[in-house]
Amino acid sequence: MFPKPLLAIIGRILATLSTVLILVGAAGIVAGTLGPWATFRVFHNIEINLPGIIFLGGGLCLSVAALVFLGARRSPLLCLAGALAVLFWSGEAQKRVPERVKFQLAGSQLVLASTVNRLLDQFHIPDIEVANFGTKNSELLGEGLDWTLKGANVLLLGSLVGLPVDPLAVWIFRRTARVRCCFCGVKWLLSRSARFCPSCGESTLPSSWRLCPGCGTKAKKKDQHCVSCGTAIVSES
Ligand SMILES: [Zn+2]
Ligand SMILES: [Zn+2]
Repeated sequence: MFPKPLLAIIGRILATLSTVLILVGAAGIVAGTLGPWATFRVFHNIEINLPGIIFLGGGLCLSVAALVFLGARRSPLLCLAGALAVLFWSGEAQKRVPERVKFQLAGSQLVLASTVNRLLDQFHIPDIEVANFGTKNSELLGEGLDWTLKGANVLLLGSLVGLPVDPLAVWIFRRTARVRCCFCGVKWLLSRSARFCPSCGESTLPSSWRLCPGCGTKAKKKDQHCVSCGTAIVSES
């Protein structure tokens, strides 16, 4: 195992890296939801951009980013849940947003058809088309949705990096992770770091390891003396 100070340094590096990634990811989600999720042309030359926040999914993603900034960034476990939710909502938006846009455009086309276009017909002027309904769904998606997805991926990465040092995750791990004895099948908490099975007394160490009779330090099979206290270790074979 690593010495304790090294573990602490690794932990601090992981925590810092995780915090940076989580903040960058959340910032990406904010920029993404304020950016265009839908972009389309009406009357052939007017471009309309609809920001993500006017859609339900966009609003939900923005709230996740807000929660991260408000304090959820301290728990990578919470950030992980948030990142998965944003990935789900923005994935849904890729399907739903184009449908919504086309539905709205079709509505406007109906209104035009019944009023303006009927009037234009009287003067033999071609009908006004609100938009090209043949546009592919993917072409209606704005780049804001892309940023939201990228932000969510960075947030996901940040929370995974920080998970091993998350106090909440560690607390849950210490109270749930169990070891199973391969001799009698009894299970106990990993946090007890038991060297012998509490039920049958068999050693929990790999067969190539033995314990020093003097201080209990792990010794390798070929060792003749303990690396910690120097006690002679009698070979079994
Ligand atoms: Zn056992
Ligand atoms: Zn020893």
